[in-house]
Amino acid sequence: MVRVSHAIGLLPCTLALSSNAAPSAKRVAIIGAGAGGSSAAHHLAQYAASSSTPTDITVFERNSYVGGRTTTVDAWSDPAVPIELGGSIFVSVNHILVNATRDFNLSVASQEDSLATRLELPDLGIWDGTQFVLVTREEDGWWDKAKLLWRYGLAPLKTNRLMKSAVGRFLNMYEEPVFPWKNLGETLEAQGLLDITGVTGEQYLKANGISDAFAREVIQASTRVNYASNLAYIHGLETMVCMATNGAMQIDGGNWRIFASMLKSSPAITTHLNTHVSLVSKQADGTYRLSINDTTSTFDEVILAAPLQFTNLTIDPAPKHTPDAIPYVKLHVTLFASPFRLDPAAFKLAPGEAVPQYVLTTLPPSETPRDGHPGSPDFYSVSMHYTSLNQHASPPRQEFIYKVFSVKPITAEILTFLLGHSVSKADAEGENPNGTVSWVHRKIWYSYPREYPRVTFEETQLDGEGGALWYTSGIESFISTMETSALSGKNVARLIANKWISKRRGGAKHQHTEYQGSSGKQVPLLPPPESDSDAPQLEVDGEGMTLDHLGPMVVNKDGSLSRIANWETMSDKEKKNTLRDLGKRNQLRLSELKGEQSEL
Ligand SMILES: Cc1cc2nc3c(=O)[nH]c(=O)nc-3n(C[C@H](O)[C@H](O)[C@H](O)COP(=O)(O)OP(=O)(O)OC[C@H]3O[C@@H](n4cnc5c(N)ncnc54)[C@H](O)[C@@H]3O)c2cc1C
Repeated sequence: MVRVSHAIGLLPCTLALSSNAAPSAKRVAIIGAGAGGSSAAHHLAQYAASSSTPTDITVFERNSYVGGRTTTVDAWSDPAVPIELGGSIFVSVNHILVNATRDFNLSVASQEDSLATRLELPDLGIWDGTQFVLVTREEDGWWDKAKLLWRYGLAPLKTNRLMKSAVGRFLNMYEEPVFPWKNLGETLEAQGLLDITGVTGEQYLKANGISDAFAREVIQASTRVNYASNLAYIHGLETMVCMATNGAMQIDGGNWRIFASMLKSSPAITTHLNTHVSLVSKQADGTYRLSINDTTSTFDEVILAAPLQFTNLTIDPAPKHTPDAIPYVKLHVTLFASPFRLDPAAFKLAPGEAVPQYVLTTLPPSETPRDGHPGSPDFYSVSMHYTSLNQHASPPRQEFIYKVFSVKPITAEILTFLLGHSVSKADAEGENPNGTVSWVHRKIWYSYPREYPRVTFEETQLDGEGGALWYTSGIESFISTMETSALSGKNVARLIANKWISKRRGGAKHQHTEYQGSSGKQVPLLPPPESDSDAPQLEVDGEGMTLDHLGPMVVNKDGSLSRIANWETMSDKEKKNTLRDLGKRNQLRLSELKGEQSEL
């Protein structure tokens, strides 16, 4: 059950915010119902349920909708024609989104019978402001591929290998022992990813022998459409992410449905829309008092799931680690509908020649790339996304729906140029359902950070170790996508759940012997199993083992302890095998650590 208060007047007094809670429930506030906040709520509810921790999670969202930068608008205000305005595509390695799509039974928009094929258009063209440097068709055969090989040599294959290696290292962040991480910078260093985030895409590609032509014509077109950035101003890892396009998909009706489903996934979650949090104030007892519209409420844990600089929120006193304000891309997204196709003359094509469905852009070789500037192509991309019936025209007519990414507003003159038909001022405002342009929606987003090279990242715990003020948006300077925000939310959820578990254990029966790990920290030895008659029993190598639902402890190389993230979802057989392997590995690591200690 999700209770949603849609207006200030509906947000009741302080007590009502936690009306469903058991008296001892952990009170968690999440600020922001985008990918990060929704994922944090969903995963924390799951972790809390599996450790039988009563929890009351309240999500505050100042918008009137769930999804944040992942949202749709309806063409001609017709709910049957929702168009993605923000985050629009995710890919098969985006495990959280893909799993959520499956678990919530959401349908993926069909890729079959693509628009390009139906309309007999090339599917992709890369325009440098003077010519198309590359045009591909879905049905391209071996001869066209051979021509690409001739043009770019082994660069596409090499880039693919580089991308797979970078993505592979990133995927470690989903798994024990890397997950959950407390410090993003240290985690990326351990994964060898700082070497890639610390240089520009241009430097990274050059260092890896990728030809200038392929980098400029293909890879830069991708960094421009995805992050509005030329290769000289985006770090190497985000560059590689732009090339990870396998299994691209989107949810029918809008990707925001994933996040709405997450918020509906547990009765422990309550979502308040139209609810602005203006103050987070730390109390003497370590709790946080939040000012929410015109009311206040107190929470044990607070997750800030939005870039602090855009929250209009004061944290009092200033936390130990205040996230820096960083430059974000100010992106104009223009959606429009027209019965006309893009004009071949606008792209120096012969009359009657088809303009590709997706026109990405890059710079000609002679042009010096500028920061935050699309250069001579004037825009980052223009693409045809759907065909749909404009019921408001008389008579109703079939139209094309386009999306443009640019740094400047798309005016009536630019629309006239792109369509080759006169677009009046009224048309360009979407005021004329029978016009050359029948519907327009404009949005200026602070869409993602300018992904400059960097090797330091914001802290996850703003009040330091032991604090209860968490931040998900630091991940955006590393990779800014729906999936990485969702991963950051899940990570914070796991850290909070672990904290609760370890507090419960710390206050309970066991006295753990401690020894010093290689990092110099005191490390508790494995706790003995708790006697819990409800705990499930597993037989491993003929021996009965009792485990709580969080599964066994893992001894990490540095002596710290963690859990297996997906323990609850493993089959009994997988659990048995894991226990067998883990037992040996833990013993080995413990004796190595003890050995190190005795050498000191
Ligand atoms: C045009 C565009 C295209 C994109 N394309 C893609 C793509 O194809 N694929 C992809 O994976 N990603 C894409 N992205 C990026 C992706 O959308 C974002 O990385 C992701 O949605 C960020 O999620 P988030 O939860 O971290 O932040 P947000 O979505 O920004 O959510 C933060 C939420 O917090 C709320 N909030 C802020 N302050 C307060 C407050 N004080 N009180 C209450 N609520 C508050 C905000 O209203 C917002 O809803 C795109 C983004 C844009 C704009």
